Amino acid sequence: MSLLRKIANLGYGSRREVLALFADGRVTDADGEPLYGDDRVPHETVRIDGEPLDPAPGIVIALDKPAGYTCSTRDPSRLVYDLLPPRFRRRTPALSSVGRLDRDTTGLLLLTDDGQLLHRIISPKSQVPKTYEATLAEDLRGDEAEAFASGRLMLDSETTPLAPARLEARGPRRARLTVTEGRYHQVRRMFAATGNAVIALERVAIGQLRLDALGLAPGTWRALDATEVAQVL
Ligand code: URA
Repeated sequence: MSLLRKIANLGYGSRREVLALFADGRVTDADGEPLYGDDRVPHETVRIDGEPLDPAPGIVIALDKPAGYTCSTRDPSRLVYDLLPPRFRRRTPALSSVGRLDRDTTGLLLLTDDGQLLHRIISPKSQVPKTYEATLAEDLRGDEAEAFASGRLMLDSETTPLAPARLEARGPRRARLTVTEGRYHQVRRMFAATGNAVIALERVAIGQLRLDALGLAPGTWRALDATEVAQVL
């Protein structure tokens, strides 16, 4: 692919705007030598205004999502994409969130432009465990772990029982819950089914990839390396 198209696909601008970057000598190699739109050079050698290009397609981003941001582009309020550089919204192929977190859920959210990887992670067949820390309105009763592990728990208005999930009490009103499905508002509805309510929810891990190992502050993100991506599946 030509460098012009590669840079436009990364969201740096329209074809015309990227042509202007070349014309102004702002696209260079690592030694500062100008590059041209029809050059075909390795991604990692390209600089724009002296800065390396954004990661090539096949990117997986981990974001520490704060409360108040939604994953749905149909929702007019603040979007998780607002936490990324604006040009990331213009990338081809487009970035999508890997599943969704509720507006008020915090923690680990992955975004990728790799459709196959996305489907492997969210497919019920893959049974990728997602681990949440829940803060509850009421004390745990003590029978939740058994109910969640039973594989018989039914959520309101659903026709199939939930797959077994693992609950670990971390205090009277705190619990760590690992689920392998991704049903709508699943964790909140599971606790509702036990007569409790979730007042704060954080996703702390997807597969073996733990949020606390990523060194992210709330609202920040970074691209994952191949070893980290492998920990998800
Ligand atoms: N379960 C929920 O209820 N909400 C989320 O955001 C994620 C899992």
